[in-house]
Amino acid sequence: MANVIEEAKSGRASCRTCKKTIGKGELRLGVEVTNQFSDTPSMAWHHALCAAGKLPGELKEAMATYEGDIPNKLELEAAIADSLKKGKGKPGGFPYVDRAPTGRAKCMQCEEPIGKDTFRVAVEREIDTGSMVTRGAGYMHTKCAVANLENTGGSKDELVEGIRTHSRLAPDDLEVAIGEIEAGVA
Ligand SMILES: [Zn+2]
Ligand SMILES: [Zn+2]
Repeated sequence: MANVIEEAKSGRASCRTCKKTIGKGELRLGVEVTNQFSDTPSMAWHHALCAAGKLPGELKEAMATYEGDIPNKLELEAAIADSLKKGKGKPGGFPYVDRAPTGRAKCMQCEEPIGKDTFRVAVEREIDTGSMVTRGAGYMHTKCAVANLENTGGSKDELVEGIRTHSRLAPDDLEVAIGEIEAGVA
C-alpha cells in the first residue's frame, strides 16, 4: 500500500514528526511502516504540514492522488517545494534521478563510470547474489536511460512521469535532468 492522505478519523493518533496529537478531522499523511515484531505493516501518521517538512516526497505523491479537498494546499505545496530545495527527504520509489554521490558506480547501459555529482537515473532491477535474487537500485547516465528502455520495456513518457513523481531534486534541477534524459545526451 502506498502513502495516504486522509482526514483523521479520531483524535487519538499522534504525529511522528512533532509528537503532538492529530486532531479529529485534520489532514494527515500516513506512511506505511513495517516493524520487526509484526508481519502486518502499520501506519505512521504525520500532520500534513509536518510531513511537508520531513517527508516532502511522500506527501507530494499522496497529494497527487488525494481526491478530497485540501484547504491549505498552497501552503503545503510551498512547504514541500521549500523542503525539496533544501534536499530533504529521500527518494520514495523508482525510477528517480539524483546526483551521483561518488564517481565509482558504472552505468548499467554503457558500463562507463557515472561522474561524481552528475545526474544519474536510478531504476529498480533484480540483483542475483548467487544464492538469491533480490531487488535493488541500478544506475544509469541520464543520456543512457532512454536507450535502456529497450531492455526493461516501458515508454519514455512513463519513465519521465515516474521520475517526476519520485525524484527529490529541486524543480530546476529536475527539469535539467529530464531534458538530458529526453535528449539522450549528457
Ligand atoms: Zn506534527
Ligand atoms: Zn551510460
